[in-house]
Amino acid sequence: MPVLSTFSQLPMPTEADAVIIGAGIQGCASAYYLAKRGLKVVVLEKSRIAGQQSGRAWGFVRAMDRDPAETPLMIAGLKLWQELESELGTDLEWRQDGNLFLAGDEAELARFEIGAARDRIFGIDTKVITPQEVSALIPGLVDPGPGGLWGPKEGQAEPRKVSPAFARKATELGALFFEGCGAVAIDRQAGAVAAVVSEAGTIRTKNVVLAAGASSFRVMHGLGLFLPQQLARFTCSRTNPLPPLSRIAFYGHHIGFRQRPDGSLNLAEELKVDVDLTLDRFRALRSFLPSLWDNRSATTFCVNSVTVRDLLHRLPWRPEARIPWVHDRDPVIPANMRRVRNALAQLARLFPTAVGVQAVESWAGNVDLMPDGIPVLGPVAQVPGLVLATGLTGHGFGMGPIVGKLTSEVIADGKPSLDLTAFRFSRYANGKIGRSTTRY
Ligand SMILES: Cc1cc2nc3c(=O)[nH]c(=O)nc-3n(C[C@H](O)[C@H](O)[C@H](O)COP(=O)(O)OP(=O)(O)OC[C@H]3O[C@@H](n4cnc5c(N)ncnc54)[C@H](O)[C@@H]3O)c2cc1C
Repeated sequence: MPVLSTFSQLPMPTEADAVIIGAGIQGCASAYYLAKRGLKVVVLEKSRIAGQQSGRAWGFVRAMDRDPAETPLMIAGLKLWQELESELGTDLEWRQDGNLFLAGDEAELARFEIGAARDRIFGIDTKVITPQEVSALIPGLVDPGPGGLWGPKEGQAEPRKVSPAFARKATELGALFFEGCGAVAIDRQAGAVAAVVSEAGTIRTKNVVLAAGASSFRVMHGLGLFLPQQLARFTCSRTNPLPPLSRIAFYGHHIGFRQRPDGSLNLAEELKVDVDLTLDRFRALRSFLPSLWDNRSATTFCVNSVTVRDLLHRLPWRPEARIPWVHDRDPVIPANMRRVRNALAQLARLFPTAVGVQAVESWAGNVDLMPDGIPVLGPVAQVPGLVLATGLTGHGFGMGPIVGKLTSEVIADGKPSLDLTAFRFSRYANGKIGRSTTRY
């Protein structure tokens, strides 16, 4: 039986102007902006649209306190977000009520001063505020700490809505999405992209966008290229509806949350991650040693069912071993319930009106990390026609629209409207790897 495209139920074409591998927010946004430019686009998704990180994110959309290389992209990105609901013709729960990072101590407050000064150079109105100003912004918070970093124009949106909205609109413009259909190989002629082989047929094309999230390193490995990408597991919960706590996206006292229009919270232990030990964790270990050291108190290493599953998947007769690009189609990613309990208890302590808070739903997602904390975007010199949109390092929901737009420009115009030099794949050549300076 032929595989039919999601939404439009059309069969797989034999050629396209561009094929996108992965239907997370980078893939869906790229498809939309390419289709808007009139290109024939096919998106291959081994499982389902936004089934991985892009449907599991908290939903913070932040320009402030980023790596300076990302700031110009996010300034342009926020402009796209402001228009997105009307452009895609649907509700995304978008709002721009600000973002607050509470300082843990005076040293962090001093670091915030540096971040705020850097943001102001770019024209972002981030500022350090006093405990009194924190209390004025969030009156229900019992402990405003030593103060915080405040960005009044930062945003938030609902991750479960955004990628499907991009995909639907891209489909209206002619893009074809194939769910449950992985990319398994790229054919090359004279080194350049000539076709993408999918589980349901081959599509001739000169352009491929690699937006496979935490699996991108597998595709790059298949092309003989080393992408020093790692995975870390973030846990998140959705609570029962609560009385209004704040419309601000909040991080502080070891938790992060945003309150949704129905009163429920997306809630997590702030910046705490689990690393499931599998053999893949060792492949780029050397590149990650500096950031692992910097984040040692926030990282827990786990030997668990994921470790066992990984070993089983290496048995030569398993599909995961035979189709390495698709590998684990729907990986099991266990939520860390200890982190869920910690976050709930901390919320109840900080907000007396949150009494009776419960987790209605808890989940985790495998975030794809790069050792220097910024994504890998743009063309790859070794494979003409291959464009990367990956390695978003835990903050790629907010970057999705601008990454999609810039990726479309690389393909449609031959160059992006913003400088992507800092994000080039070649920065990893010869083991030259920096240190992450960003928040997840
Ligand atoms: C719990 C959690 C909270 C987060 N919170 C935030 C936040 O508040 N703000 C923020 O900006 N970011 C946040 N992030 C990070 C953000 O979600 C990611 O950076 C972003 O979604 C990455 O998008 P992506 O499209 O690159 O990857 P993904 O969404 O992971 O999509 C990649 C897709 O590629 C598919 N794929 C893989 N291999 C193949 C193949 N061979 N063929 C076809 N398809 C393939 C996968 O199935 C997957 O659907 C969070 C992440 C998590 C997990």
